[in-house]
Amino acid sequence: TTDAVWLAPGEPQEIHSDLISRFQAEYGRPASGVWFAPGRANLNGEHIDFHGGRCLPLALAHGTYVAAAPRQDGQLRLRTLDASLDDGVTTVPAEQIGPVNGSGTDQDLQDHHARSPRGSGHWSDYVSGVLWSLRELGVSQPDFRMQDGFGADLLVVSTLPIGGGLSSSAALECASILAFVALGTPLGRQNPLQDINAALSRQHRKDLAAACVRAEVEVVGAGTGGLDQTVALRARAGKVLSLDCRDFSVQPLDIGCIQRGYRLVAVDTGQAHRLVDGQFSDRRADAEAAAHLLGFDRLRDALPEKPRKADVLHVLEEFDRLAEQLDSVDGRDTQACRRRLRHALTEMVRSEKLHHLLSGEAYGVRHVASTVGDILTSGHMSMRDDAEVSFAVADLVVETALAQGAEGARLIGGGFGGSVLVLVPIGALPRLTAALEGISRSIRLLDVVPSAAAQAL
Ligand code: ADP
Ligand code: MG
Repeated sequence: TTDAVWLAPGEPQEIHSDLISRFQAEYGRPASGVWFAPGRANLNGEHIDFHGGRCLPLALAHGTYVAAAPRQDGQLRLRTLDASLDDGVTTVPAEQIGPVNGSGTDQDLQDHHARSPRGSGHWSDYVSGVLWSLRELGVSQPDFRMQDGFGADLLVVSTLPIGGGLSSSAALECASILAFVALGTPLGRQNPLQDINAALSRQHRKDLAAACVRAEVEVVGAGTGGLDQTVALRARAGKVLSLDCRDFSVQPLDIGCIQRGYRLVAVDTGQAHRLVDGQFSDRRADAEAAAHLLGFDRLRDALPEKPRKADVLHVLEEFDRLAEQLDSVDGRDTQACRRRLRHALTEMVRSEKLHHLLSGEAYGVRHVASTVGDILTSGHMSMRDDAEVSFAVADLVVETALAQGAEGARLIGGGFGGSVLVLVPIGALPRLTAALEGISRSIRLLDVVPSAAAQAL
């Protein structure tokens, strides 16, 4: 039936109590609590967070739940209930996590930095990485100073597709870090269970997002730029976050104007990606090489405060002038660098346009929806032709969605697999669903309902 194609977020209270009883069965002792972090969709701003661009993500109702209880021996024991990754309980010994026992001086931080543990390639790296980076954060941030010898038992379950471009990795990191904060830091001990939700300030959440980024970059070895962790920890229910990745400031914007009469649907193609594979980092390196040639450390600085199309053309002309005699830039193919540059710049302009569209109120409903739709679709073309991170099924999903009356559609996430975000009039949803079911049996649809940030349940 048509319903089978929808992937439901589930009932948090049911998932909570199920996880609590499975935890007891697995570890023979009760869990101290359950922490949740959402996955994300993104209206615009892919492959530009690490260039300081603006992104417009929103949190999903789907996400990752972590049940946990503390240990005193510095070890992590953890198991995932995800069918494809479950390999029983993994134990990560304390010495592999690299505890910090410093006094918080710069020298301590530097010494510790040199000891950042390398990941093993196992999914547990995301969690042990976060424990490491939280300990390091605690060296300079007293609220997060980790208890000596802190360790934990964890049980993980997710309602997200894994490797589906909806950021199951950040959801795992962010749910885990909240568990560690609650169980092993002064902030957690002073604010039992759900009280932690109110006790975490904006700055706390910002610091924790940065710690999760460190874990994914330094321990897992994936080139994430902070978009996913920021939305998981700082999203607002009912809103899209307008996130300026120059300073990670956020502005929650209403999207009621595009929800009335429309639905946002994430189409998981069923083709999973592995961001640690290196293609993602290659794309980033191409764009960074272009930035260096232009004389910028951060590509966002190549454009003015309120960038427009003409500014993009100007930067591209400058690139062409500088690259005229060059086969390669920083050892990378010049034309590839130019395409990555063009993706990043046009993506930044689209984000700016969307930000102003959603923060203004001067438009009728139809107009807003069709403009957002056009931005989505041109974002896809840029992911396909310039970033070159799309793939056959994603292109087909976009084409199919547009043919069935969607206002717009685009690949979201890092690419090379993952999901397509579709803005569709409610009336067109049944035929769109049927057409998508015809493409592949592994396609799943997720209703995108802008949801709240990570929290203790
Ligand atoms: P995405 O974030 O788009 O889902 P990534 O490749 O960034 O894709 O992250 C997927 C990886 O994160 C998985 O391969 C696994 O290592 C880890 N992961 C995410 N969710 C879970 C989970 N529920 N259980 C175990 N590992 C998970
Ligand atoms: Mg990810």
